[in-house]
Amino acid sequence: MQRLKRADIVIAGGGWVGLAMAKEITTRTSLSVVVLERGPHRKMAEYATGMDEVDGTYRQRSMQNLADETVTHRHSSGATAVPIRQYGSFNPGTGVGGSGELWSGLSYRNLPDQFRLASVLREKHGAAKLPADLTVQDWGVTYDELEPMYWRAEQMMGIGGKAGNLRGQRIEGGNIFEGPRSHEYPNPPHPHTYLTMLFHKAARDLGYHPYPTPAATLSQTYRNPDGITRSGCAYCGYCTRFGCMIGAKAQPTNTLLPVLMKHNNFMLRPGCWVRRVVHANGKAEGVSYVDQEGNEVLQPADVVILASWTLNNARLLMLSGIGEQYDPVTGKGTLGRNLTHQGGAATQVFLDRHLNSFMGAGAMGITLGDLDGDHGLDPEWGILRGGAIRITSGGEGPIAAFGKIPPGEVRSNWGSEWKKAALKWHDRVGTITCESEHLAYRQNFVDLDPTYTDKFGDALLRLTLDWTDHERRQAAVALKVQQSLAKAMGGRVGGSVRGIGAHYNVTDYQSTHVQGGAIMGTSPENSVVNSWSQHWKMPNLWVAGASAFPQNGSVNPTLTVMAVIYRAVDGLIDRYLKRPGGLVV
Ligand SMILES: Cc1cc2nc3c(=O)[nH]c(=O)nc-3n(C[C@H](O)[C@H](O)[C@H](O)COP(=O)(O)OP(=O)(O)OC[C@H]3O[C@@H](n4cnc5c(N)ncnc54)[C@H](O)[C@@H]3O)c2cc1C
Repeated sequence: MQRLKRADIVIAGGGWVGLAMAKEITTRTSLSVVVLERGPHRKMAEYATGMDEVDGTYRQRSMQNLADETVTHRHSSGATAVPIRQYGSFNPGTGVGGSGELWSGLSYRNLPDQFRLASVLREKHGAAKLPADLTVQDWGVTYDELEPMYWRAEQMMGIGGKAGNLRGQRIEGGNIFEGPRSHEYPNPPHPHTYLTMLFHKAARDLGYHPYPTPAATLSQTYRNPDGITRSGCAYCGYCTRFGCMIGAKAQPTNTLLPVLMKHNNFMLRPGCWVRRVVHANGKAEGVSYVDQEGNEVLQPADVVILASWTLNNARLLMLSGIGEQYDPVTGKGTLGRNLTHQGGAATQVFLDRHLNSFMGAGAMGITLGDLDGDHGLDPEWGILRGGAIRITSGGEGPIAAFGKIPPGEVRSNWGSEWKKAALKWHDRVGTITCESEHLAYRQNFVDLDPTYTDKFGDALLRLTLDWTDHERRQAAVALKVQQSLAKAMGGRVGGSVRGIGAHYNVTDYQSTHVQGGAIMGTSPENSVVNSWSQHWKMPNLWVAGASAFPQNGSVNPTLTVMAVIYRAVDGLIDRYLKRPGGLVV
């Protein structure tokens, strides 16, 4: 194995987390930072020629190659897991920028009580009334502590939206259920489309409080605090699963990388696949990886940061033998526990006129928070937490749009009658979605698969994951609300899509919002990392990203990921480096 010169800090993964942490360290210190990214380094010019729905949406050319590495899944501990061989319920990205190049840009903050969820549920319902298998946990950090970090992320990305709670003052038109913000959004929201206008009016008519979905696609030209200027969105519709051809969508490569590239203490190595954290005597000594040419390389470093996304972070810890594997029977061990995805449901609404749905932006929409967290929940529904409901004019490709037909419109799903109906309806359909909190349960976890391996022969990560009645009830509530909204829009209620079925389904896309496995908390007994994303048992190892989330917080996670890792990197720079080797307090 080739041994390289020691770096001060090595980071595994070049997505939002890896590059944001690298940017803070390289711009605020003189330390050398090496980022190892397994995928290629794509350039913005390639995005302009890559607007191909077949290639991007269906073949998913920018995502992790499942022949190189995938995960296995089973519904319960007694079952045998099998590998996911086609893109399914989530789509991990690869390449410099990671999924942050391919995301849709919906940029919410978590509700404040999410960060104290275990305490909140106990206070509200009493421990005895909660499901016995519930393992939700307080994060060890509060919304108030994270608020300035959220604001930093919003400015860096240039989020557009409308505040609903400015320093405690509720503002109609914004999300009046959100936690207090110190500032209005850096940019205004996107304008309405016909679809979002109808939804907004219907929601208001039904007594809800709709607000513009916070978006990382710019609503106007914007210069961020790092001096990076990006242009406003052209509403071309190629957002989700595509890199933005004009840089309007905030991506790690158009916000962070231009700053990083000016610093000599930063080094980016694409095509480098990290396989182990090398460690001895409770101290990380660097990482070993395979480079583009297939050479095995050791990169020694004083500090190691895992920023390789939720599942890869947990897997790298397991492959490296760091931490005690969680056992769902005894409840012992912290590594692998509290795997969560996201609850929810979606309903199609068919309207009487063309929507121009080929245009839009991934996060151009309207959301309502009236049933999010524990707001507005009817005790009859039997759910502890709800979710955020929304409609989006995300820009729909011709293939995705084709074949959506109102129920009962045709007698069979083929032939000339079906084709005629498909042509009539392809631009007259919207989808009302709901993303509900997925609570953490004792039986949902990750560990290493005993049978299946990746291209290097390393064990794949095994997901043991299934829905409970709580998620099924959440979905039933969401469908009812969505159907009433669809009717109030004057539309025909279509089929339910992306719903939670009897069991967790790995084949249909849900969201790439997977959390847990290396969670944060208040002590080494209940978590892998502390609230600074620092490993409890190996203080020079940082495990950053949604792997640290003790449970899913209903809305899209990336802004919260950024808030948590800004706090982590502040802890690393301002506290840890002053007393290297110790735990940050
Ligand atoms: C289609 C899609 C739409 C999305 N839409 C939204 C949205 O609207 N809002 C939202 O909040 N979130 C959204 N997300 C999720 C969002 O993209 C992620 O939350 C975010 O990108 C996570 O950042 P990360 O840096 O932790 O992980 P990633 O972006 O996954 O980056 C991790 C990087 O690590 C690299 N890596 C992994 N393993 C290794 C290894 N062993 N060695 C070296 N490198 C490695 C990967 O290649 C990757 O580049 C979406 C995701 C997808 C795929």
